[in-house]
Amino acid sequence: MTAKIISGTEIAAQIREELKTAVEELKQRHGVMPGLVTILAGDNPASVSYVTAKQKTAHELGFHSVQDSQPGDISQEKLLCLIEGYNRDPSIHGILVQLPLPGHIDESAVLNAIDPDKDVDGFHPVNVGRLMIGGDQVKFPPCTPAGIQELIVRSGFETSGAEVVVVGRSNIVGKPIANMLLQKARGANATVTVVHTRTKEMERHCRRADILIVAAGVPGLVKPEWIKPGACVIDVGVNRVGEKISEKTGKKIAILKGDVDFEAAREIAGAITPVPGGVGPMTITMLMKNTVRAAQIACG
Ligand code: NAP
Repeated sequence: MTAKIISGTEIAAQIREELKTAVEELKQRHGVMPGLVTILAGDNPASVSYVTAKQKTAHELGFHSVQDSQPGDISQEKLLCLIEGYNRDPSIHGILVQLPLPGHIDESAVLNAIDPDKDVDGFHPVNVGRLMIGGDQVKFPPCTPAGIQELIVRSGFETSGAEVVVVGRSNIVGKPIANMLLQKARGANATVTVVHTRTKEMERHCRRADILIVAAGVPGLVKPEWIKPGACVIDVGVNRVGEKISEKTGKKIAILKGDVDFEAAREIAGAITPVPGGVGPMTITMLMKNTVRAAQIACG
């Protein structure tokens, strides 16, 4: 069997088209453009490229988008003041602080200062709590897990009653996706197991999975014999394993590998996400979706 490739690039493009319609509706009905500010402290090259990509997508979708770049030595007090200003600014519906922040700044103090109703990353404790409760309480599901759920559902995999195994228990991927898929809701209702570095016989758990989600950050961790034939495999891992020259631009680019041994796994799985081009493109798209939702909520 050769697995179907689940293209995050294609599914993200579909969702962006849907978002364009929602943005147009907000403009027509309420005269409102979704407003997104991305705050960057310092010039870490990876962070610069992430916020540039977020701003580019926001522009393409017709958002009011603001890039607020601050020096790396900005004081915590000044950063908190800036956030307070955006909390009060009615033209801004979503606030994103690019992580990691410089070492002298208390990251959780900054994230907790964002108004939970503008927290489009979904990391504020209030939104983490809302996600845990589920149902109508959920406003902003965190972007990577929300993207994973969309990939599974839009590829036609049934989650209800499915055995889902999640490898990894981080606050940004493993724990929230496990929580989302066990909710009593459409696109969920799964039986979920979470495995991590202290799990005994990890491969035995993985082999049971109808849907296997891997977010460990270990290249090639999941071997083909860990996969149930026909399973849906979502590889969240993004691991830089070297560099190469891009055929398109002639510039040096990173060679990326997922957490799953892709070439071998595709002979066993029913469907699998590639790296790159799987979960990655979904994350920014779900940030845009959360920003549109924040604007819709603000419009009542
Ligand atoms: P993280 O915070 O480092 O957490 C990794 C988790 O995997 C931990 O819970 C860890 O277990 C578990 N783990 C690590 N090695 C393991 C092993 N050998 N066996 C079993 N469990 C193991 O990582 P993260 O932030 O969740 O990210 C995971 C991967 O996803 C990374 O490659 C990251 O780059 C990628 N990622 C991609 C996107 C995207 O948009 N595409 C977004 C976020 C993350 P313990 O808790 O026991 O230590």
